[in-house]
Amino acid sequence: MTHKITLIPGDGIGREVSSAAVRCIEATGVDIKWEEALAGADALEKTGELLPKSVLESIKKNKVALKGPITTPIGTGFRSVNVAIRQALELFACVRPAKSYAGIKSKFNDIDLVIIRENSEDLYMGIEFEEGKPQTKALISQIGRDADKDIRPDSGISIKPISKFATERIARFAFEYALKNGRKKVTCVHKANIMKFTDGLFLKVSREVAREFSGRVVFEEAIVDNMAMQLVVKPNKYDVLLLPNLYGDIISDLCAGLVGGLGVAPGANIGFDSAVFEAVHGSAPKYKGLNKVNPVAMILSGVLMLHHIEEAKAAEMLENAVKEVISEGRSLTYDLKSDPLDPSAVGTREMADAIIEKIKK
Ligand code: NAD
Repeated sequence: MTHKITLIPGDGIGREVSSAAVRCIEATGVDIKWEEALAGADALEKTGELLPKSVLESIKKNKVALKGPITTPIGTGFRSVNVAIRQALELFACVRPAKSYAGIKSKFNDIDLVIIRENSEDLYMGIEFEEGKPQTKALISQIGRDADKDIRPDSGISIKPISKFATERIARFAFEYALKNGRKKVTCVHKANIMKFTDGLFLKVSREVAREFSGRVVFEEAIVDNMAMQLVVKPNKYDVLLLPNLYGDIISDLCAGLVGGLGVAPGANIGFDSAVFEAVHGSAPKYKGLNKVNPVAMILSGVLMLHHIEEAKAAEMLENAVKEVISEGRSLTYDLKSDPLDPSAVGTREMADAIIEKIKK
């Protein structure tokens, strides 16, 4: 069967890692017709827009996209192309596995956890009031009246909405994900002791959803600061972590660090209609065009994509090839070496070539 998939190469190191991922995915023999769609710096140069409508239309039509990282412009009104895509397509679930691979130097060798991050609300909705603006002053006065709290008049304000609707949707997604993937436990991560009406609601609704899965999936709760500490001490205690947007972003980078860094951390953004697969890392502009960075995060995002389109055999083949190359330790990019200046480190292309060689073996 031919799969039609939108390919957004991205900018910065995006083109290098997405081209490596496409070559590795194609080496599995899976039949994919890529539809390239430009977003970010490349699109801005060609069309004058960071996120042309055609990109969203292509993903809506094909329902699946593989996306390279895109630089967030600083000092423009546009918050982030990445966040805009997630919001426009209602990709409400961000799935980020963190898994130990033999051969990667890390304090732990038995981590296998999955972060499920709510992707649509919380502080990432971008509802912000700039310091000094009349609306901000009005809001500060209203808060003074309604909440009986004095906010300093020279403050900026960011709003953190968390709804029952979105929490129920992500909690149900997390439990169903656990069941479907043979996972035993979901841990809800929050700060409900301080933010009673937002994190408190997230926890309350998660508990309600957990009851529906009682006897099938174990439910646990953890306060986010304690969770950060527990994860660096005994990460192997955890299985699926369910988090609101901001904590999910931070904790998933922490977990990436536990298993070898951003170079090996894949991700997926999933909605009811479409899904976009992308590495956790960004566009690392300082490495652009140097054929230096690790393509594995993007390749493993491709593994998640292959599972999603029900090409499990190709997914396994690709993941096993990545595992073999990492455990052999010969064709590794600088970030996987104990000394990043190790002259035996290979480039992005060469690491992808080594993975392809294993697939073809
Ligand atoms: P980054 O992830 O791009 O880079 C941080 C550092 O991580 C790099 O300097 C590098 O040392 C390391 N790194 C990242 N990817 C690597 C790889 N594949 N191999 C080896 N090392 C790697 O984060 P940043 O510098 O904070 O962000 C750069 C830009 O990317 C910003 O504009 C940011 O908004 C954007 N960003 C985009 C996405 C996305 O497209 N989904 C995600 C995060 C950040």
